Amino acid sequence: MIFGTIFDVKRFALHDGDGLRTTLFLKGCPLHCPWCQNPEGISPKIHLCWTPSRCIHCGICVSVCPLGALSRKEPQLDIRIDFRKCDNNGLCVEECPSAALSFDGRRVSAEEIAGEILRDRDFFDVSEGGVTLSGGEPLMQPSFAAEVLRICRENGVHTAVETTVSVPRSAIDAVIDYVDLFLVDHKFADPESHKNILGADRKPIRRNLEYLLSRDARVRIRIALIPEYTATEDNLRGLGDYIRSLEPVQPSVELLNFNPMAENKYRLFGQSWPISRDAGRFSPEEIDYFADVLRKTGVERVAT
Ligand code: SF4
Ligand code: SF4
Repeated sequence: MIFGTIFDVKRFALHDGDGLRTTLFLKGCPLHCPWCQNPEGISPKIHLCWTPSRCIHCGICVSVCPLGALSRKEPQLDIRIDFRKCDNNGLCVEECPSAALSFDGRRVSAEEIAGEILRDRDFFDVSEGGVTLSGGEPLMQPSFAAEVLRICRENGVHTAVETTVSVPRSAIDAVIDYVDLFLVDHKFADPESHKNILGADRKPIRRNLEYLLSRDARVRIRIALIPEYTATEDNLRGLGDYIRSLEPVQPSVELLNFNPMAENKYRLFGQSWPISRDAGRFSPEEIDYFADVLRKTGVERVAT
């Protein structure tokens, strides 16, 4: 049996490929996008989390922990977790009366989670939807991803993978035969920004993208419009110049609007949100403007 680590399953998703989709989120990502919408998906490990708004400060968790990993901090009696001591045995999670403690992921077998996904087959059939593997970077767990995709595919379910392709070629080879659509996130045209902001070289990512195209994989490039980062005319023009040059078939492009809701997650995980407080979603006119920048470079198919 092949096991993997996931952090969420979202049913009836509308923005992770065509039709209604069940999106499976796998833990672990090699990039460190400062605006990541799923910060709990970056680490491949499972961590204990404390939700302050749910806590009634009863102190039960502190007394049940056999490893002394929990303590309370005055004056609000906030719970502190010592991750060096915690071994994820879950005793505190079981005893917490208000569900203020939880884990940010779980281990599942490919068979079990594929069985869960296949329960939505009727919705996939009526909407021409399917399953999408996302993350984190789902190809960080290639054997698990391949097995989930294989089972879904063999049961007639359309399969998509949302990926940065910032993975070894072997990870792509592990899944390519079971994927109907690759949704490839591409963020920066400038190699320095790519390296400095995301923490990874642009070159191998582009090589993998070109490899997918050379293997006749169906690819849609997705560009998330992030204020102060990716949503600039220069960046979109640079990305457009690259996409126009791709062959044998120029992939379609989808622009994704910025989602400021992720700020709440950063608060929950005690991290600071790197985008200015007043940055909201882009208006339809602004999105059209960015789409036009791409089209002017020669990109033929741009969806917003
Ligand atoms: S999961 Fe177990 S070890 Fe970790 S804090 Fe809770 S009781 Fe302690
Ligand atoms: S057991 Fe739950 S509600 Fe009680 S202090 Fe711990 S986290 Fe808060």
